[in-house]
Amino acid sequence: QKDGKHTVVIVGYGGMGSYHAKLIKDNGKFEVIGTYDTDTARGAVSEQDGYRAYGSYDEVLSDGAVEIVLIATPNDVHKDIAVRALAAGKHVICEKPVTMSVDEFKEMMAAAQQAQRVLMVHQNRRWDDDFLIIKQMYEQGTIGDIFRIESRVHGANGIPGDWRHLEAHGGGMLLDWGVHLLDQLIFMIDSKITSLSSRLSFILGDEVDDGFEAVLQFENGISALVEVGTTNFITLPRWYVKGTEGTGVIEDWSMTGRIVTRNHGAERVEPTPIQAGAGLTKTMAPPSETATITGALPEPYRQPSSFYDNFAAVLAGTAEPIVKNEEVLRVMNLIEVIFEAGRTGETMKDFDLYA
Ligand code: NAD
Repeated sequence: QKDGKHTVVIVGYGGMGSYHAKLIKDNGKFEVIGTYDTDTARGAVSEQDGYRAYGSYDEVLSDGAVEIVLIATPNDVHKDIAVRALAAGKHVICEKPVTMSVDEFKEMMAAAQQAQRVLMVHQNRRWDDDFLIIKQMYEQGTIGDIFRIESRVHGANGIPGDWRHLEAHGGGMLLDWGVHLLDQLIFMIDSKITSLSSRLSFILGDEVDDGFEAVLQFENGISALVEVGTTNFITLPRWYVKGTEGTGVIEDWSMTGRIVTRNHGAERVEPTPIQAGAGLTKTMAPPSETATITGALPEPYRQPSSFYDNFAAVLAGTAEPIVKNEEVLRVMNLIEVIFEAGRTGETMKDFDLYA
């Protein structure tokens, strides 16, 4: 510790590495005492930002002043960096996807177990307000029993950056946004997945997926669609959920959205047929004005503490991690099943996410 703060070295001082430096400064319980990046230009930026740039990773590991190694490199090197840090007695915070495969993550967990050090994955989107609103609606029955969840992120910029285009670095959208959306979904729904199908898209001609769709059927009756797209010039809502009493929509991260529920107080009025295209329809006519109630989204649940507050409490032994490694393992298993379903075109059944 330094001045009562936990000391951190950020390995990989790129986009996310510098964002962590800001998060850590805002949190106040930790202090960044340096960075290590294989790109010396990023080392120079680090020095400008006031953080010592270590000359090598060995130098970081042999520095007894370093308590925590934070990993924000491309995905293919997370495992080696983490295992070496743990073996050197450091705690580890690792960016998502934690590794490229289930086997790699198991190796990482074993290293943490052996070294008796904390390993926590930065699944930060468990703190997203949009997700916490949906989670609250799910738990409180705001629109009745939810039976359909559509969770999407749509962009029109293709795959960003450089390493994200390459399989060897763990590129592609399933390993990028996919990890967040799937983590949210199975963190919220405590039910076995009984079947799954998926389709990966390669519209942009990259060797990795530029988006995907996965359809998951849960034992408790919920069906979920998870979709990531980078070729969507018109975007669909971030969340579209249906329950036995209503429908909810959240458009975007500014929490534009609404809930429409059945009005039990209203007398039942048959909808009046409307002209639709070249025909008439009653089925698809809007409900009568009194038949439904349109309301605002509920206030989101708040997580009891921020990622970094929780990490500090886990170090102190006073709290359980909010992001548990068993949950991360489940997501990594799920991702492997989705890749397999995409490759084979088969509907997957009887898989074990705890294996
Ligand atoms: P980036 O390319 O901006 O930064 C990665 C940095 O790591 C680069 O500066 C690169 O030079 C450096 N690097 C590469 N190999 C290294 C090594 N062996 N040792 C030390 N440094 C090395 O990438 P990014 O967008 O910051 O992504 C980094 C990680 O953060 C990825 O795992 C990504 O999935 C994750 N990420 C998470 C979120 C989130 O919201 N949780 C958002 C963006 C990125």
